[in-house]
Amino acid sequence: MYKQHLDYLKDQDSKVFELLEKEKERQMEGIELIASENVVSQGVLEAMGSVATNKYSEGYPHKRYYGGNDVIDEIEDLAIDRAKQLFNAEHVNVQPLSGSPANMAVYFAMLELKDTALGMKLTEGGHLTHGHKVNFSGKLYNFEQYGVDKETERLDYDAIAEQAAKVKPKLILSGYTAYPREIDFKRFRKICDEVNAFCMADVAHIAGLIAGGVHENPVPYFDAVTTTTHKSLRGPRGAMIMCKEEFAEKIDKAVFPGLQGGPHDHINAAKAVAFGEALEPSFKDYAQQIVKNAQALAKTLSDNGLRVVSGGTDNHLILADVTSIGLRGKEAETTLDKVGIYCNKNTVPFDTGSPWDPSGIRLGTPVLTTRGMKEKESEQIGMFISEALKNSKDDAKLEEIKKQTLELCKQFRFYE
Ligand SMILES: *Cc1c(COP(=O)(O)O)cnc(C)c1O
Repeated sequence: MYKQHLDYLKDQDSKVFELLEKEKERQMEGIELIASENVVSQGVLEAMGSVATNKYSEGYPHKRYYGGNDVIDEIEDLAIDRAKQLFNAEHVNVQPLSGSPANMAVYFAMLELKDTALGMKLTEGGHLTHGHKVNFSGKLYNFEQYGVDKETERLDYDAIAEQAAKVKPKLILSGYTAYPREIDFKRFRKICDEVNAFCMADVAHIAGLIAGGVHENPVPYFDAVTTTTHKSLRGPRGAMIMCKEEFAEKIDKAVFPGLQGGPHDHINAAKAVAFGEALEPSFKDYAQQIVKNAQALAKTLSDNGLRVVSGGTDNHLILADVTSIGLRGKEAETTLDKVGIYCNKNTVPFDTGSPWDPSGIRLGTPVLTTRGMKEKESEQIGMFISEALKNSKDDAKLEEIKKQTLELCKQFRFYE
């Protein structure tokens, strides 16, 4: 059982204390299916709340702009060494404060303003930072975008190769936010070589599956790979960049002084803890169970009449097209909220709606797997979801389902 240590805060600031305790209860009394979330271990939580937060350490280990960094250097070195071992990386920068600035740093390092790059459309699974027009990436660079095949709803590598040959991007980006299938990274490497493009992946969502050996690891043969540390990898909020030695200096300079000031040393300590956990054999079991749970959940949903995008999942997430049962994504999200199941509305490939009014929902299993739930519970949750969505206007029925989800959650409490 984990513990949220707020013993001092309780007396100092009861308002903030009460809110944090309330949030703790919410997390335990609901089924969290937001695919980008997780529950960190006690060790990660404690490192984040440690005295390392007091330090300033602009620069890199053993080359700092401030004194008193001997211990911080050891912490950052440890995080780097463990990340290298975990992903078989030549060079690692653990300083990016989050996934978006990590991507920004790689673009700053490798592209000139207005250069052409190729990334996946937001509406078909890409991230905002992969070239969307409201984002810096779409404003500063000429991002061309690829999508999935209309029939299979999977990546069409021949089509991507053709597009790459046509637009001649300086950088090609793979890795996504809402793509339920395994990525053929070797094929992406080949496409990049054909058009002489910088080969980059953003594995923010699937980093835990890669670390656990369930999905292909692109790090050894890609030019640069970014990842958040807080999604399936189950570390603190933050990110890192892994790259070939030949790009190390450029990328390090882009992070600092190019983009950021001092690193968040308490977070880097927590990254070291999380990487240590991911190196344990038990993390492999965790990664495998995430996928088993997602597949069990997907099957239950489709057995109950929900159209699952691409017919299933190879990873931790599922895209369900709720128009198949007469709903919109937004309605589905709020209905599930009412029964204590949290997910997010999401576009599906070739969606006729917008990101604000999409046709689907995205569901992920990293959190419930961390809680110890297995296929049986995943199926049970699939039943709650389909029952709730089919009875979205029946408040009495929703109330009944909420009681059942609460009952399930009570068996899987994880904080004292
Ligand atoms: C979550 C995510 C990011 C952004 O991470 P933040 O930490 O929220 O900035 C970037 N890329 C992908 C693919 C993501 O899923």
